[in-house]
Amino acid sequence: MTKPSITILGSTGSIGRSTLQVVALHPDKYQIFALSAFNNVELLFEQCKVFTPHYAVLAAITPNPELDQRFKEIGVELLFGLDALEYIAAHDTVDIVMAAIVGVAGLQSTLAAARCGKRILLANKESLVVSGKLLIDAVKQHHATLLPVDSEHNAIFQSLPINHQQGLDQHGIRKIILTASGGPFLHKQFHELTHITPEQACKHPNWNMGKKISVDSATMMNKALELIEACWLFNASASQVEVLIHPQSIIHSMVTYKDGSVIAQLGCPDMRTPIAHALAYPERIESGVEILDLAKIGTLQFEAVNMERFPAIRLAYEVVQTGGTASAIFNAANEVAVGSFLEGEIPFNHITEIIERVLNHMTMGPVESLAAVLAADHQARLVTQQIIKKSKV
Ligand code: NAD
Ligand code: MG
Repeated sequence: MTKPSITILGSTGSIGRSTLQVVALHPDKYQIFALSAFNNVELLFEQCKVFTPHYAVLAAITPNPELDQRFKEIGVELLFGLDALEYIAAHDTVDIVMAAIVGVAGLQSTLAAARCGKRILLANKESLVVSGKLLIDAVKQHHATLLPVDSEHNAIFQSLPINHQQGLDQHGIRKIILTASGGPFLHKQFHELTHITPEQACKHPNWNMGKKISVDSATMMNKALELIEACWLFNASASQVEVLIHPQSIIHSMVTYKDGSVIAQLGCPDMRTPIAHALAYPERIESGVEILDLAKIGTLQFEAVNMERFPAIRLAYEVVQTGGTASAIFNAANEVAVGSFLEGEIPFNHITEIIERVLNHMTMGPVESLAAVLAADHQARLVTQQIIKKSKV
């Protein structure tokens, strides 16, 4: 039997590198078909030397004969530009696509994988948040498989019955409980957040992640996006999803049933576990993650989320209620605001404030096509930039 062939979109990022670590443990089970980076040539080249894919993609770089030659010498065909991402996601030879690009930039390649009936391991939550119904419909229509890699959603998936897509009510499910570490500033007062530097915001207490998601975790925008992601993945209403602070990130999420049972998935906070789960599902394989030692951990803590301290969660509930392009606008405003914060242009505690202003300023429409989503994304970016510019005057 031939080994399943994998494309990793965003192989040089945190999730991409963890995926390659898991794949490296199973040379008998998987082969890499294609890898992609935005512009990190050196890391992509090193990965190609080890995993010898057919293709490597540099999404942000225009065709370059010297680079071409360098990759050719190690037996890899180098492709350039954004369209190449769709090509390696949709290629006939590919069985599994790891969607690990950060932000809405991952949308088109993820959709391309869905339209070609691939097994999609979804880390790129933003693509589902912004395109919601479009991506879910494409998965259904083309018999693709969507497996969540986000640790919370992977935990929920593991805690739900197999046919949960028929509806949570039918399976006696009362609620999905999405756990949140609360990030590095859980107990800081709002005014203390003014002088937070990008370095401080990117230092998560439990997880080692890319910069954007680290800032999102600190503002709790990550949990806000995950709430929307959960509604789409599990066909849940916003009122069926609750956020619970759990600072140790050991319980990755839970499902409560009508009979009072609560089923949870626990593990060390290491993304190789959900990656290995989604890769091998329904089998189980080694991930390289150490086994959880609860006696050593001793205590697990929980607290309710304070929506005044973390307005992102309140906004996410409102965005789900509004529907349509609201979530694309929510996401775009966040991507621009986080970019500005990382550039030192706005203080940390302005991020969610700016997002709320963008939401109040814009008119939402239906999500009937990719063009409608991209137009809302584009418009929201312009509005966010204007609001940021005014706030600096
Ligand atoms: P990262 O910044 O470490 O890596 C992002 C990858 O995408 C890199 O390979 C980069 O080259 C590529 N990329 C960036 N911008 C691009 C663009 N415009 N076009 C094409 N490629 C581009 O990010 P990450 O932390 O690995 O996160 C990836 C995704 O997984 C995000 O959606 C994040 O929310 C999600 N996620 C990450 C974690 C984690 O632990 N890191 C956990 C859960 C979910
Ligand atoms: Mg998560």
